[in-house]
Amino acid sequence: MKTPDFFLSMKENYRILLALFFCTIVVLTTTAYAVEHYYYAFIFPAIRSIYALTLYYLPMAAIYIVVPVFVFWVYWQWKKRIAHLSSAVVKIIVFPIVVFLFIYCWFYLSWGLLYKAPNLSSRLHFSEVQIDSTYLINEIRWVENKMRSCRKTFWENDTIAIPVNLKPRQLESLLQSDVASTLENWNIKSYKNVRVRPLYPAGSLLIFSTAGIYLPFSGEGHYDPGLAHFHAPFVMAHELGHANGITGEADCNFIAMITCLRSENTFVQYAGLLTYWRYLNADLRRSAIFSYYQIAFARPIFIRKDLNVLYKALDRYPELMPVIRDKIYDTYLKANGLKDGLMNYDKILLMFKAWKESSLDPDIKQKWGI
Ligand SMILES: [Zn+2]
Repeated sequence: MKTPDFFLSMKENYRILLALFFCTIVVLTTTAYAVEHYYYAFIFPAIRSIYALTLYYLPMAAIYIVVPVFVFWVYWQWKKRIAHLSSAVVKIIVFPIVVFLFIYCWFYLSWGLLYKAPNLSSRLHFSEVQIDSTYLINEIRWVENKMRSCRKTFWENDTIAIPVNLKPRQLESLLQSDVASTLENWNIKSYKNVRVRPLYPAGSLLIFSTAGIYLPFSGEGHYDPGLAHFHAPFVMAHELGHANGITGEADCNFIAMITCLRSENTFVQYAGLLTYWRYLNADLRRSAIFSYYQIAFARPIFIRKDLNVLYKALDRYPELMPVIRDKIYDTYLKANGLKDGLMNYDKILLMFKAWKESSLDPDIKQKWGI
């Protein structure tokens, strides 16, 4: 009788399968309470400490090492455990499932579990707020004035976009400490030894309509080096928010916004104001198209010039399957508890309004006349 190769191989590999099923069950059943009181309090800080002593010091993005090592390890496991088996079931079904479960558990146990933690609005006790088109119009006028005075401090020419040589040299370290200060001021645990690095080649994220990404597999945030120089700081601060254990997209947008306002560097401030301005305009365009065109008609020349550079940078790389990408990412966000999916990014407007009405950060509010 032919040896049941399938069962033989399962017996050989049962330990890894058992461990993976156990991890998957842990991921699926961990409660919000356990994530908040155990994972966030002890395990995530331990992961960050290990990172701070090791990969943090690498001269390049750790993912360039993590991915090849992982691919080699999978190949090696295949050669050692699977390749000699005759069972097609093991080769075509079981092995890919094991690899998938491994990646799934790695993602959630290293960071993704934090999707179950309470969002920033509830941690900061924000009240429910509403915005209408009048609010958006007033906000656009306010932010345009602030952008004008802010921009003048480092580039006086209104008719030429901000030159690339004005980008601060130590942008990453500036943002590392500003993001940490933002979180500390809200009594939220922060980590200074976190990184946000460019992901080369330029355009590798933009082709997926993505400006930045946090990769839990290496514990680092990334931004596309193809972004306009005054677009990158907001994206970098957003990804540093993720690296500090904040999962929500609106939450990280909000952290980036407050971090830019907190910064002493006016280039960084301008980057934050410009992104906020873009969210305001996008919302006004959706909710009151006539008002949007009225405002757009009187748009200051310096914003037109800077936007031109910003969109040219985004358009330099062709988008790959934008509809499929949006569908996949929207489903991913919804599966992880962000009910509004891709619309979650836009909540920055509501969070900013709630923040203005809160008692948080009186020093920043005073600085900006809020
Ligand atoms: Zn994000």
